[in-house]
Amino acid sequence: MHNMIIMGPPGAGKGTQSERIVSHYHVPHISTGDMFREAIAKQTELGKLAESYIKSGALVPDEVTIGLVKERLSQDDCKNGYLLDGFPRTIAQAEALKKLTKEIKREVDCVINLNCDYGALTERISGRRVCPKCGASYHLVTKKPKVENVCDSCGSTLVQRPDDTVEALKTRLDAYENKTKPLIDFYKKEGLLKEVDGLQSIEDVFLDICNALEGK
Ligand code: ADP
Ligand code: AMP
Repeated sequence: MHNMIIMGPPGAGKGTQSERIVSHYHVPHISTGDMFREAIAKQTELGKLAESYIKSGALVPDEVTIGLVKERLSQDDCKNGYLLDGFPRTIAQAEALKKLTKEIKREVDCVINLNCDYGALTERISGRRVCPKCGASYHLVTKKPKVENVCDSCGSTLVQRPDDTVEALKTRLDAYENKTKPLIDFYKKEGLLKEVDGLQSIEDVFLDICNALEGK
């Protein structure tokens, strides 16, 4: 079974690797960041609530995020595996996930931790361009679209994320250090953690992830 989590600091490459993992292992990609951005674009109640937190780089409150994931993971398409990207981000979320997945018999069996240093993160985030329609992620230098500023998959014009600013990035890195990093030990203790060097090329990171998932 592939009930997976991909973790790492903002800009480590979680979204980029998720695209490859879900197409290789045929599991749904559950990105809480993408779900929030979609809700903001549609200006739903959830979107209105999450917008100011996300723009500033702060975490959305646990109860909101946990409720969202609970509903999503219970859906039928997650019965043969799933990939969580950007969740959990706090110990409270990890505890809630443990309880929930036990109840629905979809317990996590692998956690990939993408390691990346802060210099690289800043370069990756400042050059990141995303597709507002399908969520695909590009980079001005390391992952250019075929046609400048146009999404390869759906043809939309690429944009810079409103939280990819210097100020919001600082808040996001603080949130990562203080709230998310402790999850590394949490999953180490659970015996689920696989460390992957995220500083390699996109292709090499993916090869290491596949090897980790296949226990090589
Ligand atoms: P995350 O989802 O962890 O925030 P992304 O997958 O969006 O990160 O990647 C952040 C930026 O870095 C994007 O612009 C992406 O194209 C680029 N990127 C991702 N992985 C690599 C890599 N291994 N080498 C160079 N650039 C990368
Ligand atoms: P991401 O796309 O994963 O970088 O997430 C973008 C933003 O969405 C984060 O900076 C948070 O504001 C919010 N967010 C995403 N996932 C979570 C989560 N698990 N808990 C709290 N906030 C989240």
